[in-house]
Amino acid sequence: MSEYNDKNVFNQIIKKELPCNEVENNENSLSFEDINKQAPVHVLTIPKGKYTNLESFASNASNEEIASFIKTIVKSAKNKDLLSSGYRVIINSGSDGNQEVPHLHAHVLGGKNLGPMIKK
Ligand code: AMP
Repeated sequence: MSEYNDKNVFNQIIKKELPCNEVENNENSLSFEDINKQAPVHVLTIPKGKYTNLESFASNASNEEIASFIKTIVKSAKNKDLLSSGYRVIINSGSDGNQEVPHLHAHVLGGKNLGPMIKK
């Protein structure tokens, strides 16, 4: 697996070298608005630790960090008032997953009916 690249954009956001529109912030996780929204609500949730993707997170993160990540995804959906209407969570991983930023992130999408999961 490739080594974590400190220069990735989400690490710069964590270090406050780049700005973000925060949705939720706690000890282990951060949520912020995606700059290129694919739905009326499009939030990204990331762990603050240095994890390239879901596999590295599952293998190396503490149970506390893993619990925080899941809870922060749901807290973000709640902050955006998506709990009753519903939402979708996507984690792209690796090249077939079209992951662009090499720091684990979950997309939280909603605000309209999102249609089928994958275009055929
Ligand atoms: P992925 O293709 O799963 O790696 O998704 C990366 C996401 O990061 C895309 O939806 C981008 O729009 C988003 N993104 C890239 N740079 C920033 C940034 N500076 N602030 C917020 N979102 C970003």
